[in-house]
Amino acid sequence: MAIFFQSCPFECLYCHNPETIRMCVGCGKCVETCPVQALTMGENHKVVWDEKKCVQCDTCIKTCPNLSSPKIRWMTTDDLLEEIKKLRIFIRGITVSGGECTQHRDFLVELFTKVKELNLTCLIDSNGSYDFSQDSELMAVCDGVMLDVKAADPVFHLQLTRSRHELVFKNLDYLLDAGKLEEVRTVILPTYPDENEKTVREVSRRIQGKCRYKLLRYRPFGVRTEGLDFCSQIITSEDEAERLKQIALLEGSDSVII
Ligand code: SF4
Ligand code: SF4
Repeated sequence: MAIFFQSCPFECLYCHNPETIRMCVGCGKCVETCPVQALTMGENHKVVWDEKKCVQCDTCIKTCPNLSSPKIRWMTTDDLLEEIKKLRIFIRGITVSGGECTQHRDFLVELFTKVKELNLTCLIDSNGSYDFSQDSELMAVCDGVMLDVKAADPVFHLQLTRSRHELVFKNLDYLLDAGKLEEVRTVILPTYPDENEKTVREVSRRIQGKCRYKLLRYRPFGVRTEGLDFCSQIITSEDEAERLKQIALLEGSDSVII
């Protein structure tokens, strides 16, 4: 079961769900544009989304000037636990994603503690912007982290994500040593073969077959206009993915998925 949280300290240009980048600030602009009145202003500047009325046209998301979405549910860990219990017989565990789920660290510790009592696993999908090495409480209830490594080159990482990359690589090394690295992922871009190669080489040298490496072919779907200008309107080719897979294998990865 995948659970998506809103807000992220990165602002990746290729983000395919950019409406999760910021928390809703309750400006109300989207409320006026909904064609079926599925949105209303509730108390404390919180937009209320009527899921039953919603026709999923995404007009609200296109209207939002804040990289956010009103199609969210405010939940306590107990509310979420009730949803998880409904699916319990079909799943092995939960994965929390985003946005960047570690923005809600206290919520995760509380949620994972309760979910583990159901004998389900708890995985984190992260962009590496949170210093896992400093949080033994979270690590104790987390079974593993799926870590995105966007770029090895510091300047390219900054251009792509608007954030620095040092902590991502610190997390890569720490999680590997701690036996908590479930998987590493890199999105490979169609128009930056040199940057792709640099990242794949650096990650593969570090993980040395101790963890699965997934190379995700970039797709332009959901990417905002600014991102399309930087990243491309076309999908990364199978040939480029295969070329990078061979490089990853040569550099020491032994489980590469494209
Ligand atoms: S996606 Fe749903 S809530 Fe958003 S504008 Fe369309 S109908 Fe309204
Ligand atoms: S989703 Fe965006 S437009 Fe709608 S209230 Fe929140 S910040 Fe404003």
